[in-house]
Amino acid sequence: MQNLGKDFGAFTALAEMDLTIGSGEFVALLGPSGCGKSTTMNMIAGMLDPSHGEIRFDGRNMNGVPMAKRGVGFVFQNYAIFTHMTVRDNLAYGLKSQGVGRAETNRRVGEIAELLQLTPMLDRKAAGLSVNILQRLAIGRSAVVEPAIFLLDEPLSNVDAAFRAVMRAELKSLQRQFKQTMVYVTHDQLEAMTMADRIAVMDHGKLLQVGTPLEVYNHPADTFVARFIGAPGMNLLKGRITGADTGLVADLGAAGHCPVRTGQGGDVLFGFRPEQVHPDANGPLQMIVTTVERIGARTILHLAAGDMTAKAVLDSETPVPDQGQPFRFALDADDVRLFDAETERAL
Ligand code: ATP
Repeated sequence: MQNLGKDFGAFTALAEMDLTIGSGEFVALLGPSGCGKSTTMNMIAGMLDPSHGEIRFDGRNMNGVPMAKRGVGFVFQNYAIFTHMTVRDNLAYGLKSQGVGRAETNRRVGEIAELLQLTPMLDRKAAGLSVNILQRLAIGRSAVVEPAIFLLDEPLSNVDAAFRAVMRAELKSLQRQFKQTMVYVTHDQLEAMTMADRIAVMDHGKLLQVGTPLEVYNHPADTFVARFIGAPGMNLLKGRITGADTGLVADLGAAGHCPVRTGQGGDVLFGFRPEQVHPDANGPLQMIVTTVERIGARTILHLAAGDMTAKAVLDSETPVPDQGQPFRFALDADDVRLFDAETERAL
């Protein structure tokens, strides 16, 4: 995609997108509702014409090429399957219309059914099957024809949480097995983090950062990405970098002072991940515990200092202060991320 953009009248749904997706790669378009993910996807599919820019498949310009001629498979949030047909006939539908022979069709239907755990219900009518199974079937029906590019737009948003976890693993193994090029739209950072080779983070019609899950987690390009990736997202405290005799220090007001490795003097947003907080009675930072949230193996501390808030994720075995009490902690200087206070871009 080069300089790709879409306007609806005066409204810009996608400002400019430059992104190259490799063959066999799984790329997630991640961002909040309305950021332009589906608009981008619909242009890749050929359902929507770009206002400017180009989409190329293997170097070939796709502008003006109809959807049917692009070799894309598309699965939507709302599965579209033939309910009067059996699961087997639904899976075989695309292969039949491509004129694939009976033996080969049976082989491929058998293989995809096995992979998506649909084998026991192959001869059942689709009508009456659960939403979970129908969405699995919709994915299978598109995947079985091995499209050049497989596009999935929030395919798991209508299925229940337990099934979503299962499907994340299955989709990933399906993609690996078929070395399928996949573009996956989601607003759920966990889906993107667990499945994608690379994540394209979007907001307000703009592509903010493209990187592997660890790159966007460890080195967010700006504060939006820092907050959006991770659950809870990155903490950002207002700070000021000053030089001390012993080196650079971030002055975090009511929370204390923390040594930092880099950074020019001036106002910053001081970022650290909740899971990188180390409780330490002699630590340089202190905030007040406002809530203690116990969620099984982890404890989430909600912290405040002046008008700033933060979260700490600790092992549930770690002793924690009561609500209203101070919590002292340290951070590894390598874990600290600094952002320009004005532009909110990473320094
Ligand atoms: P969601 O997950 O809610 O679908 P999204 O990131 O996929 O979000 P898009 O569907 O791409 O977002 O929409 C981006 C913006 O463009 C939204 O503000 C939407 O209202 C607007 N938009 C989308 N299609 C049209 C259209 N046909 N006419 C006018 N505005 C549109």
